[in-house]
Amino acid sequence: MPEPISDRIAALLDDLGGIEAETDPVLVRLKSRDFYWYSPVLKPQLDGKRGEVVVRPKDEAEVLAILAACVRHRIPVVPRGGGTGNYGQAVPLEGGVILDMTAMSRILSFADGIAEVEAGATLMQVDAWARQQGWELRLWPSTKRTATVGGFVGGGGAGIGGIAHGTLREPGNLAGVTIATMEESPRMIDLAWGKAAPVNHCFGTTGVITRVRLPLAPAMAWRDLAISFPDFAAAAAFGLALGMADGIPKKMCAVIDWPLPSFFKGLAELLPEGRPIVLAMVGPCGMGAVADLVATHGGEIEAEQDFATAEAANELTPFYEYTWNHTTLHVLKRDKGITYLQCLFPPGRTLEAVARLRDRFAGEMWMHTEVARFGGQVTMSALPVIRWTTRERLWEIIAACEADGVAVANPHVYTLEEGARWKLVGADRLAFKREVDPYGLLNPGKMTSFSPVGGKDAA
Ligand SMILES: Cc1cc2nc3c(=O)[nH]c(=O)nc-3n(C[C@H](O)[C@H](O)[C@H](O)COP(=O)(O)OP(=O)(O)OC[C@H]3O[C@@H](n4cnc5c(N)ncnc54)[C@H](O)[C@@H]3O)c2cc1C
Repeated sequence: MPEPISDRIAALLDDLGGIEAETDPVLVRLKSRDFYWYSPVLKPQLDGKRGEVVVRPKDEAEVLAILAACVRHRIPVVPRGGGTGNYGQAVPLEGGVILDMTAMSRILSFADGIAEVEAGATLMQVDAWARQQGWELRLWPSTKRTATVGGFVGGGGAGIGGIAHGTLREPGNLAGVTIATMEESPRMIDLAWGKAAPVNHCFGTTGVITRVRLPLAPAMAWRDLAISFPDFAAAAAFGLALGMADGIPKKMCAVIDWPLPSFFKGLAELLPEGRPIVLAMVGPCGMGAVADLVATHGGEIEAEQDFATAEAANELTPFYEYTWNHTTLHVLKRDKGITYLQCLFPPGRTLEAVARLRDRFAGEMWMHTEVARFGGQVTMSALPVIRWTTRERLWEIIAACEADGVAVANPHVYTLEEGARWKLVGADRLAFKREVDPYGLLNPGKMTSFSPVGGKDAA
C-alpha cells in the first residue's frame, strides 16, 4: 500500500503545476539520506528521518515558484545536491520538500578565469569542462564524481587542491553565489566575494544556491604518486616538506599510516607490507625535485600514474579517491567497527602535535593527515581512523585533542552550532538568515540558535 500523502503536500503538488515532483516512498527515502551513517553517533539519531516529496526544478523560475508555494503552505525545504554530506546536512528533520538541484547543471559563462555554473553541476563535470579551456578547479572534494558545486559550498569546502589554495572559505576561492530566498515573494540575490560568506558551509539554511562563481587555476597534467616510508615520522616530515616546497607544483599530499593503505582496493597490491605512505599529486615539472625530497626522507616511489587517465578509466582509481574522507570509506567497507574525527593541527608545531596524538592513542587511532594551507600557513588537517567504542570515549578523545591545541570539527553532530569550533553561528549569519528565511523553513533543525519570525534567537 502506498503511504498516504499529507494534506499540505497534496495542496503543494496542486500549486506546483508541471514542475517535476515525486512522492514514491522508495525514492523519497533514498533522497532523504546522505552519508551520516559514517557516524555511529548520528546513525541512530537520523535513521528513519525523511522528507515527503522530492521536487526537481530545471531553472531559477521553477526554484522561485517552488519556494513561494512552500512558504504559502509553511512547508520546510531541504536543498540537495549529490547527497554525499557526512553529517546529515541533507537529511530532513521535519519532513517536507527535498529540493533536488541536480537538473540545474549548466556551465553558464567564463571570463577572467572565473566560471559561473549552475549549482547542480557535479565538480567532475565542471573540472572536465574547465580542462578543455586550459583551466581546472582549484579545489574539489574526494567525492568529485557525484558531489555538486552547490553542495560543496553548502556542506563541504576542503579537499584536493587545499595544499595550494587552502579551503573554499579562504578569500578569493569563491567569487560569488546567486541564491533564491525563502520569503512570501522569493527573490534572487547575488552575493559577490565576501558577501557570500553567510551561505558558505551553512547547510542550505540561508538560501537555495542556484549559481556559483568559481575562480579556476591553470590546468596541470598531474602525476599521481604513491610513496612508502620506513616509519610514520619520515612520511609526515616528507609530507610537510612537500607542502612547504614552493618550487614544486602540487595538488594533494596525504600521509597515511599503516595498516590503512592495506584497505585500499586497487592500490594495496602495489604497496609493501607495513610501510606508511604518502599519496601525492605533483606537476610534471616538479617530479625531479620530488624524487630528491623522497630520497632525503628515506622513501620509495611505489606507484605512479597520470591522474587524468586514471580518472577516466573504469579499471583505475585516481589516488585522490583514497584520500580525505575516502580513506575512512575504504576502511569502513571492510571494518564496520571504526569511525573518525576531523582535526586541524597548529601551524608551527604540526609534526610534534601529530606525533603526540598518534602516540597517545596508539592501538585505538590510526593517523591519516592531509597537508593543507590555512590562512597562508602550511599545516596538516587530519581524518584519523578510530576504533569505535562509545560516544563518551569519542568525546574524551576530542577533549584531549582540543586540550593539546588541535582543533576538532566534530563530524558526529548535525547542527551548525555543535559542529563549529566556537559552538555558535555568527551574528552575521543569524541576521542574514532572518532576512532570507524569516519563517525558518530552510533545512530546519540545523541552525538551532535561529528562531523564526516573532521568536528571539538563542544567544
Ligand atoms: C567518501 C566521502 C569523501 C568526502 N570527501 C570530502 C572532501 O574531500 N572535502 C569535503 O569538503 N567534503 C568531503 N565529503 C563531504 C561531501 O562529499 C562534500 O561536502 C560534497 O561537496 C557535498 O556535495 P553534495 O552535492 O553531495 O551535497 P549534499 O550532501 O547534497 O548537501 C550538502 C549540504 O549542502 C546543502 N546544499 C546542497 N545543495 C545546495 C544548494 N544548491 N543550495 C543550498 N544548499 C545546498 C544541503 O542542504 C546540505 O546541507 C566527503 C564525503 C564522503 C562520503
